[in-house]
Amino acid sequence: MKTIIGIPASPGIVIGKAFQHIENAMNEVLHYIIQKDQVESEWKRFLEAQAEAAEEIRTLHNHLLENQASKEQVDILEAHLMMLEDQDFQDQIRAYLYENHQNIEWVVQDMCFAMKERLLASQDPFLQERVADIDDICRRLIYKLLKVQRISLKDLNTDVILVCHDLLPSDILSMNRERVKGIVMDEGSRTSHTAILARAFGIPTVLGLSKGTKEIKPGEELVVNGNSGEVIIRPEQQVVTQYQWAMVQYHKSVDELLSLWDIPAETKDGYRVSLKANIEIPQEAAQVAHFGAEGIGLYRSEFLFLASGQLTKEEDQYCAYCQVLETMGDLPVTIRTLDIGGDKLLPELMAEDEKNPLLGWRAIRFSLSRPDLFKTQLRALLRAGVNGNLRIMFPMISGIEELEQALAILEEAKAECCKKKLAYGEAIPVGTMIEIPSAAMTADILAERSDFFSIGTNDLVQYTLAVDRGNEKVGYLAQPSHPAVLRLLKQIIDQAHARNIKAAMCGELAGDPLAAALLLGLGLDEFSMTAQAIPQVKRIVRGADMASCQALAQEALRCTSYQQVILLLEAWMSKHFPQTPLDINK
Ligand code: PEP
Ligand code: MG
Repeated sequence: MKTIIGIPASPGIVIGKAFQHIENAMNEVLHYIIQKDQVESEWKRFLEAQAEAAEEIRTLHNHLLENQASKEQVDILEAHLMMLEDQDFQDQIRAYLYENHQNIEWVVQDMCFAMKERLLASQDPFLQERVADIDDICRRLIYKLLKVQRISLKDLNTDVILVCHDLLPSDILSMNRERVKGIVMDEGSRTSHTAILARAFGIPTVLGLSKGTKEIKPGEELVVNGNSGEVIIRPEQQVVTQYQWAMVQYHKSVDELLSLWDIPAETKDGYRVSLKANIEIPQEAAQVAHFGAEGIGLYRSEFLFLASGQLTKEEDQYCAYCQVLETMGDLPVTIRTLDIGGDKLLPELMAEDEKNPLLGWRAIRFSLSRPDLFKTQLRALLRAGVNGNLRIMFPMISGIEELEQALAILEEAKAECCKKKLAYGEAIPVGTMIEIPSAAMTADILAERSDFFSIGTNDLVQYTLAVDRGNEKVGYLAQPSHPAVLRLLKQIIDQAHARNIKAAMCGELAGDPLAAALLLGLGLDEFSMTAQAIPQVKRIVRGADMASCQALAQEALRCTSYQQVILLLEAWMSKHFPQTPLDINK
């Protein structure tokens, strides 16, 4: 038995068998020069891998046909087979190998990179869409060359605890989530999108274990404690029994909290705030009422694109937005425009080789540079706005110029709806996400052109403290309680109120019970979080009084370090909620 400790990223306890997911075989591709007399055998290896890959695709193709899969899925496989067996493709690989004498995995990878770059550089959307296909073929070939078994997470058919080095948000979206009972990962942090999705889907998760994949062998029994960050490998029977008991207790306490679902989020002295849910896929909207959400404070629309791995057409977007709006009835639904880039790559639209993706072509920057795609999304949103209480929000605004440009494109989208005689919501409030320090510092200016603010603390912390939110090595620095972050929060909320607009928060801090009293004291109007966190935050709101929260906020703003702030918040919690464990969400 051995215990390793990581970051508790999604609550809950689970016991099960480890399933090693080798998702990064591409990273294992080595580069070396081969001797002239080895070239022939490298070419033979390629031909064998190609034949095996083609056979695999044929089997999959037959399986799809037998199961009456959609024509689109069948067409994709047929296209892959054609590309794989294309004489030109083979000739290019052969020529590269014979000229450069490098190992064949490297040749395949390098050729595929070059092909992808050419496609991305073309202005033709059809050609750009082929990038994902090249990726897939390249991956399939390299897996065959490296003799790595490629088990798709979609095809899991027994319950497992997924053990991996890293997992993309799109992997979580596409995997068989019924079967993944827990996730254990070497990389990642609490605010990485992988963690956010794991919480959304209620999968107990521990991240940032560094060497978890080296310590855990496939098939080994594990206990994953998503509340504390502990992962126990090969637990003794006595420990398993203890955790089975802990699981029952945990579910009981969750059920107790759920009974708060229909009572208002109001402090003891009658100060009312709004608690809303963050969602990533439209189907989640149906469950949020169960946790007492008073609307959707953040729908991350990019996951619609990431789930399908491709651009989503206007009609499909329209249907997804309507689904959320109709599910929520009169309750407000804030839909954020596309925030791809950073750790949310859509291969069809962007190459993976940006040097600093988190500071790069992301979110509103991407949308403003592709007004065609941006307007498609805005038209879908405007039209859906007829069917409910919609609010639109722009991500990663860095200053007034970007906000003005986005608003101008929104006007163009409205004009297009008018021209096409399409009904659209005419009075949809439009908000700005404040998640870059420059936006926080100019909140007074942005407030003049915004109907509301929503503070994205995940990125605000990342950019204020210069900490990559997905990098576990510097995760300890990502402290929302840092005095720099607190001062920005105060400034944003005060500036919103000075201009009579509401200040919401949709970053992970909004769902942290330890921070609830502080945020109330700072004057936050709306808290939006993963739905499961709502009852816990509501309990704190209902047990607090504003005078005490305001005093707490004043004192926190006078602290000189994040440790001091945390001690202060913990002392406040122990005094007002002696029964609540302090590490509920940590
Ligand atoms: C944030 O940055 O806090 C936020 C809510 O947006 P995301 O996590 O999707 O970047
Ligand atoms: Mg963000």
